[in-house]
Amino acid sequence: MDFTPNDYAEWRLRCGVLPMLREEAERPPEHLLQTIWHHQRLRREEFTTLDGRRLHVLHPGFLNREAGPDFLRAVLQFEGEPAQTCDVEVDLLSSGWRSHGHDRNPAFRKVALHVVWESDTPGSLPTLALRPHLDAPLEDLVLWLGSDPAQTFPGALAGACSAPLRGLEPARLTELLRQAALVRLRSKAAQFQARARQAGWEQALWEGIFRALGYKHNAWPMQRLAELRARLRPAEARSSLLGLQARLLGTAGLLPSDLARGRTAAAGYVRQLWDLWWRELEAFRDCTMPRSLWRFSGLRPANHPERRLALAAHWLHAGDLPVRLERWCRALPDSGSPAALLDVLQVEPDDFWSWHWTLRSKRLPGPQPLLGAARATDLAVNAVLPWLWVRAVEGRNETLQSALERCYLQWPASDDNAVLRLARQRLLGQAAPRVFRHAASQQGLLQMVRDFCEYSNALCTHCRFPELVSGWATPVPV
Ligand code: SF4
Repeated sequence: MDFTPNDYAEWRLRCGVLPMLREEAERPPEHLLQTIWHHQRLRREEFTTLDGRRLHVLHPGFLNREAGPDFLRAVLQFEGEPAQTCDVEVDLLSSGWRSHGHDRNPAFRKVALHVVWESDTPGSLPTLALRPHLDAPLEDLVLWLGSDPAQTFPGALAGACSAPLRGLEPARLTELLRQAALVRLRSKAAQFQARARQAGWEQALWEGIFRALGYKHNAWPMQRLAELRARLRPAEARSSLLGLQARLLGTAGLLPSDLARGRTAAAGYVRQLWDLWWRELEAFRDCTMPRSLWRFSGLRPANHPERRLALAAHWLHAGDLPVRLERWCRALPDSGSPAALLDVLQVEPDDFWSWHWTLRSKRLPGPQPLLGAARATDLAVNAVLPWLWVRAVEGRNETLQSALERCYLQWPASDDNAVLRLARQRLLGQAAPRVFRHAASQQGLLQMVRDFCEYSNALCTHCRFPELVSGWATPVPV
């Protein structure tokens, strides 16, 4: 591309706004390589793997910003084989596969293609070197990397439903999301109802709350701890808050022994926990979990399982959370509100946890609540509201049922996250309308992904959703 250098362009390079390509450094930065693959800025008809097989990239996969392979759910067809859904890892050199430990990491077992800039060693996986396949000189691609199109979701990866969904009137789209959100509310409520038949309403609630505290990566170990509730917090025995924190963290396998030796506040706190936990260790040995069960990568410090368990210990210690939630619910038609629910869920300041995100983090400059508004929203839409709603249904209390539905539909939106972002980009494109002011719209979108995307592939093969949306675009006159 002809480009007359100007002062501003030179500033960008000099200040590192763009990754510099020095003359002696012929390898592009890995981020550029990922973006080239994501947008397929490649001469795609010529792909041949290093072992000599022709390769057709039917879909490059979805960029993964969390731990694991760089691209998930790509659709590739190797010469003489049927198309397959798999993951793709991008590295500068083929030796990166071993030197980065991907060959030993179970999260990488679905990787079927290693995309590299160039090969420096024979690999064990089918490998594609990008260097000969760029669709423009590398210098031009470096400049393109700083442009908006390179930083946004590639339009070519939009789902087949994206056009019909974006063609809906804003009010119709909102209505569709609302309906999907109500389906999600009912399906979560049915889960609570089924569990309550086996374990009782209160136990079903605790399990839902713990699962929601585990967020998407740690829901199962959290669920297990909730199942142990009767042992962790026997109704007949009064446990101290510190004792419950020690028991929860100890049973979770999250109590570090190496930390107890220092002189910091964390060391002092951990020593106190160990003083309590070592006396109970044997009694809980049969249900103590290995630390390896928990996932920590990609977690915000506020969502660290240690902090979530410290919060759960406060609720278990108080012991009256279900009663207070029911009280909030009874006030709902008149004075109940999201803010009032946050008050119900909030706990007293904690000597240690109000000042530390995790057991290993430094003291915070100011105290932080153990529960923020975003987590309260997740608890509300995933556990509290479905649980209360199905209880209202069972009690045939239609007034309360409607009030809970209204509350669910009007609940303010939760924080954005990678799953929601991808769903929005894929189903609604970049210019997603401002319908996501409410948590219910987010829940509705997630339900669409659950119901349709999860039964199809990245190419939307056999997905009936586009046709259903197209047929629904205009209300049938009555
Ligand atoms: S699989 Fe279906 S719902 Fe998902 S993006 Fe494709 S067309 Fe849309």
